[in-house]
Amino acid sequence: MPRPHPDHSADPARTGPPRHHCAEPRPGTPSPLTDRFGRIHTDLRVSLTDRCNLRCTYCMPAEGLDWLPRADVLTDDEVVRLVRIGTRRLGITEVRLTGGEPLLRRGLPGLVARIAALDPAPALSLTTNGIGLARSAAALREAGLSRVNVSLDTLRPERFAALTRRDRITDVLAGLAAARDAGLAPVKVNAVPVRGVNDDEIAELAAFAAEHGYRMRFIESMPLDAQGAWDRDRMVTAAEILERLGDRFALVPVERRDNAPAEEWRIAGTTAVVGVIASVTRPFCGGCDRVRLTADGQLRNCLFATEESDLRALLRDGADDAAVEAAWRTSVAGKGPGHTINTPEFRRPDRPMSAIGG
Ligand code: SAM
Ligand code: SF4
Repeated sequence: MPRPHPDHSADPARTGPPRHHCAEPRPGTPSPLTDRFGRIHTDLRVSLTDRCNLRCTYCMPAEGLDWLPRADVLTDDEVVRLVRIGTRRLGITEVRLTGGEPLLRRGLPGLVARIAALDPAPALSLTTNGIGLARSAAALREAGLSRVNVSLDTLRPERFAALTRRDRITDVLAGLAAARDAGLAPVKVNAVPVRGVNDDEIAELAAFAAEHGYRMRFIESMPLDAQGAWDRDRMVTAAEILERLGDRFALVPVERRDNAPAEEWRIAGTTAVVGVIASVTRPFCGGCDRVRLTADGQLRNCLFATEESDLRALLRDGADDAAVEAAWRTSVAGKGPGHTINTPEFRRPDRPMSAIGG
């Protein structure tokens, strides 16, 4: 399905009356998954587990969380069925597998292969902390995975151990190299800078990524940690990130792709690209095309949603595809205009980032 043109009338922050899409469903052409602001949703994030083998301090507490009981987690058959409904009936064209740590999901290459074999097949990517990727990158590529984002917040082993509470930086670096060698391109590196923790490494991380052929992206920290300890003063803003990058590199703006959350710059004189995802200080809710499925089968129309739609219950109660499609459309139709982090009304969602799927 063609992606929509950027249309600022679809930006709830700027609009007047919402646009309505009332295209007739034609056989083989799903009618778009729209909300009341006219945003079309083509990108599905699927969390495969809420468990993790790291304990990043900005994400979860040292003791971990109360993990979902296994019986609550969607089976492979259920995940494949929901993704199939998404691609065939709802116009989903991109699927990102995430978690928790998705590489902890048993039989992941098999699940990837089943999703990649769907008709129509989505563009399929993965967000991972990279532990175990050295072993699995080639199999995942072979199974049909296209791209990978690997989280790496620091290049200093001791700092990595303190930040993630696990001494595993060697595994992550090996995972990155394996992903590149397997052709999971472009390999993106995600870092969340936190003041006083790793904000002095912003330029270093960008230089590292440029040197190894990875695409660096910095993400503003969000109030989605499980401990509720997020502190605006410790968030490093996009403006500060750019200032740190600008101290070391000459940056040339790259034209933004439709609906892309990252603003990107090329490091002058190189082919290296650096991105900044400014979810807090420059929200991009007006162009949001994402919908999320948690590991226990709850559909969320926004990272910050306070309500969910229980697709797992529908599946397990024997609902047919049309009923699941209808529930999915109802959920998206009710999506709000955008997050309210910067307002006094902001209420944290009950689920932390690791249980939603970042
Ligand atoms: N475990 C995998 C990983 O770390 O890449 C996938 C799940 S993790 C929740 C997905 C992304 O969310 C990671 O890039 C991580 O850095 C980011 N993240 C986690 N907590 C965050 C927070 N409070 N604010 C912003 N990003 C966060
Ligand atoms: Fe695990 Fe990813 Fe959260 Fe780190 S950010 S604790 S790797 S889920």
